Amino acid sequence: MSPRKATALAELIAEENSLSVIASKPERRLPEQGLSDPVQALKIIREDLGDCTRCILHQQGRKQIVFGVGNPKAELMFVGEGPGADEDEKGEPFVGRAGQLLNNMIKAMGIEREQVYIANIVKCRPPGNRQPERDECATCSPFLMRQIAVVKPKVIVALGATAAKTLLAMNSSMIQLRGRFYDFRPTGIPRDDSGWGGCKLAVTYHPAFLLRDARQKGEAWKDLQMVMKELGMKPAKATT
Ligand code: SF4
Repeated sequence: MSPRKATALAELIAEENSLSVIASKPERRLPEQGLSDPVQALKIIREDLGDCTRCILHQQGRKQIVFGVGNPKAELMFVGEGPGADEDEKGEPFVGRAGQLLNNMIKAMGIEREQVYIANIVKCRPPGNRQPERDECATCSPFLMRQIAVVKPKVIVALGATAAKTLLAMNSSMIQLRGRFYDFRPTGIPRDDSGWGGCKLAVTYHPAFLLRDARQKGEAWKDLQMVMKELGMKPAKATT
C-alpha cells in the first residue's frame, strides 16, 4: 500500500472511531428526571440553583432569588421577564401592580392564580427594572427550562418580548410573534420516559406594558381567548 493510501485509511479509521464514541456517549440525566413527584423535582432544581452567582445580576442589588410559584402540575404556565421591586421583596413572581393585572387576566379566564404556574426568564431583579441582558437570560433560562420540563404544561404564555424571544430563540417583533401557537420543547432537557413531548406556546403582552398602554388590553384578551380555546376553558361570567 502506498504511504498516501495508508494515511487516508488511518484517517478514515480515526474518524469512524470518534463517531462511534460520540454515538455511544450517554445523555446526561438531570437529577430531577425520573421523579414522579413534581414538588420534589422542583425542590431539587431550587437546591441546584442555590445562592446563585452564575450571572452578574447576583451582585446588582437583588434581595432574593425569585424561583417560581404555583401549581406544580399546572396545565397553563405564564413566563415573564424578571422580578421587579415587589417580587424581589417578597420572593414571588408577579406580586406588584403588574401581578395584580395578571391575576385579573387569569380570573377572566375562569381560573385562579393557584391553578397555574408562574415564573420568569431571569430569577434576580435587574437593577432599575432594566431589561435583562441576553447573556443573563441565557445563563438563567436553563433552570426555567428544567422547571417547565417538570411541570409539563399544556400551554405556556410568554408575557412580553423578552420572554418570547428567549423561549423561542427568535428575534421578531411582538406583532410578528403574537396571534399563533408555537410547538415548544424546553431546550437542554434530555428526553425522559414520562411521555411528555412538549407543549404549545403563545405570546402576549407583558402586564406591565398593558398598565402603560391600556389600549392593548383587548389584543391581550384575544391571545388569552386563543389559549382558552386550546385548553377547552370557558371565561368567567362577568359580575355586575
Ligand atoms: Fe443566577 Fe439567574 Fe440570578 Fe443570574 S439571574 S444570578 S443566573 S439566579
